[in-house]
Amino acid sequence: MNRFKIPTTQKAVIFSTLNGPLEYKSIPVPKPAPNQLLVNIHYSGVCHSDLHVYKGEFGKTLPNLPLVGGHEGSGVVVGFGSNVTNWQIGDLVGVKLINHTCGTCEHCQQSQETACADSRLSGVHINGTFQQYCIVDALQATKLPRDINLPAVGPILCAGITVYKGLKASLAKPGQWVVISGAAGGLGSLAVQYAKALGLRVIAIDGGGEPNEKEKFVKDLGAEVYIDFTKSADVVKEVHQHSGSGGGAHAALNVSTSEAAIQQSINFVRSRGTVVLIGLPAEAKIKIPILPTVLRQITVKGSYVGTNWDTHEAVDFFARGLIRCPIQIVGLSELERVFKLMEQGKIIGRYVVDTSK
Ligand code: NAD
Ligand code: ZN
Repeated sequence: MNRFKIPTTQKAVIFSTLNGPLEYKSIPVPKPAPNQLLVNIHYSGVCHSDLHVYKGEFGKTLPNLPLVGGHEGSGVVVGFGSNVTNWQIGDLVGVKLINHTCGTCEHCQQSQETACADSRLSGVHINGTFQQYCIVDALQATKLPRDINLPAVGPILCAGITVYKGLKASLAKPGQWVVISGAAGGLGSLAVQYAKALGLRVIAIDGGGEPNEKEKFVKDLGAEVYIDFTKSADVVKEVHQHSGSGGGAHAALNVSTSEAAIQQSINFVRSRGTVVLIGLPAEAKIKIPILPTVLRQITVKGSYVGTNWDTHEAVDFFARGLIRCPIQIVGLSELERVFKLMEQGKIIGRYVVDTSK
């Protein structure tokens, strides 16, 4: 017997053209297929990827229109299809970007499902978490502990797992220096904390905002050094000055939305260092000089969200109180305003929408 009464319609934010009107309106509640859960989304983080998708910056043909965006959802399981056996009605659940994978390709078979070419993404290929009820493949839904902070865990489900996975991919070890470029944003604010929890030393780069606002913000989260890229005469030189005598940091994570910052990040690391590319500025390209990259044995790698197991670990760090999500909660009806603030670079930390408002 299902104690939840499921309505036939629900509130959602939906768009029919790229960069067109964002409509807050009633749409039908979806029905779960045999392998899917129906989730009552209570909260959803707003990721910069949602803005890229809405603006058509991930390629004009990628999103399925009309579309409900969102991929950092937290809520409650209120229904499921006939094949689902590992979930109960009332379980707390997270909905992330990867909503479905094929389960049979070489990447899925090796539990590296983020590389599945047939994956379906929440808020890109199928309606995401900017609505009150969404569907998700039972195998890609994230089990959340019963006492989890439901509004604050949302950002962990994209921003958190992405930076946690990116830091692991950097191979930086406890005591070593990592540069986080874009440190005051949604991903950056979590990257600083995961890095600290992993025993790394953080040089945070960001810029703008009120005087000292971002510096205080990232230092409160655990960064030892802050560099304001809008004020520094030479960001690379400052990184080298602050990261000991080794000729740069051991690793750099780019979570900024700036092509220039990515280009620059190649020069942040010392020999045998790793640069992890995460931010996705539209159509950005970088040029890497071959001779020093080869002789200094620099690794440049892309990192994309995280697997189910990365997600489990990233949520566990949060559940144990090691990560604090710096969130501001607003109503789902205010999503358009959040996108505008994000576009203007005025967001510090993460906005989370409450789907009941
Ligand atoms: P955000 O807007 O919250 O944060 C971006 C931050 O970058 C801001 O604080 C901004 O001030 C800062 N910034 C801008 N220019 C900079 C520069 N030159 N140097 C240093 N900092 C600079 O965005 P977010 O939600 O944190 O997302 C960041 C990026 O990561 C987006 O492009 C998003 O699409 C991408 N992303 C990638 C993955 C992945 O799996 N690879 C997952 C999630 C998000
Ligand atoms: Zn995201």
